Amino acid sequence: MTLKKVISGTNLEQAKSHNRRVVIEAIRTNGALSRAAIARLTALSSQTISNIVEELEAAGLLRPEATLKGARGQPAVPYSINPDGGYSIGLQLDHQLAVGVVTDLSGAMRARIERNVDQPTPTEAMPLLATISSDLIATSRLERQRLLGIGMAMPGPFGVEGMTSVGPTALPGWQDFPVAEELEQLTGIAVTVENDATAAAIGERLYGVARKLGSFVYLFIGTGLGAGLFLDGHLYKGSRHNAGEIGHIIVRPGGLPCDCGKRGCLERYVSLRAAYDRLGLADPDHASPDLLEQLLASGDSRFEAWLAEAVEPLRQAIDILE
Ligand SMILES: [Zn+2]
Repeated sequence: MTLKKVISGTNLEQAKSHNRRVVIEAIRTNGALSRAAIARLTALSSQTISNIVEELEAAGLLRPEATLKGARGQPAVPYSINPDGGYSIGLQLDHQLAVGVVTDLSGAMRARIERNVDQPTPTEAMPLLATISSDLIATSRLERQRLLGIGMAMPGPFGVEGMTSVGPTALPGWQDFPVAEELEQLTGIAVTVENDATAAAIGERLYGVARKLGSFVYLFIGTGLGAGLFLDGHLYKGSRHNAGEIGHIIVRPGGLPCDCGKRGCLERYVSLRAAYDRLGLADPDHASPDLLEQLLASGDSRFEAWLAEAVEPLRQAIDILE
């Protein structure tokens, strides 16, 4: 068990770094803001705001926009996030696909690379992910010193005790593999790894529909089923980064057997894998969402039947989450 950090006491450096985040966050969620507007929103003193804005502008993270003419007094200069202030690489690994993107500081995608994979083991996937990263850097011609790091998303759950077989929805051979450390070794870039559902929730919170929401649940229907949780503006990961692993909630006691050893787990009804199984595909291990899209477009009755069956277990799960 690890000791919980208590939020109290602050040294000057921490306070400064916290205030910088607060300023960036205010601009990110509201768009370009003048110093006076930032001061109003953050309740920080105008002197503090001036110092921080100056620092962030010098660091290339904020940029001044065209001056707004006020009714009286000095015209106010609004500041916005400088898209070229920093870049990051995002990697996602799933059963059939490895995807890499470069995004700028405004969240816009600058480059994207996709490679087909087949339930890759770490030995197969790590060199591929490193190549995708270096290809992304080359094709987007970004300044290497502005590269903030790599964020990688992959299916959970991570390191669940007593769950020896995680079944067809988790990637085989990754349970205790030190993904971040290995990828850092190969690329020389700082790496952070998150389960796919949590990463998706962070994306929506920063740049998507959840931008202005403090508390929300993001349901991630992948090969399995996961959820990303934000509570009062904070990402909730639980003690093992598995807080949103809702796939094994029992929604049908005595229902379909699951590889976790139980019966009637939610992801046996609501997940890509559940759909593939329900459709009676010859090779569900190699099915892809493209196939489901084709079936949906052609009005395939088997797909409609799966959707109809999936609705109720999903409704139950949402009730539990609420
Ligand atoms: Zn299960």
